[in-house]
Amino acid sequence: MSKAHRGKGIRELAFRGRGTCPVCLRENTKILYEQEVGEGDAKKKIQICKTCKAAVKHGKKSLPTA
Ligand SMILES: [Zn+2]
Repeated sequence: MSKAHRGKGIRELAFRGRGTCPVCLRENTKILYEQEVGEGDAKKKIQICKTCKAAVKHGKKSLPTA
């Protein structure tokens, strides 16, 4: 699916894809990107915002371990 993070596609998500990003703690931002956190059994997926996704990818931000 193209444009999975824009337009009509995100209207159907809870809160229209918006919420508080667990990494930068900005409120009512679009959190559309899945990121795995933790090791082994504690591994889980969280939803983070676009800028944090990019920052994590480049090693500029660390994820919350909770
Ligand atoms: Zn963020």
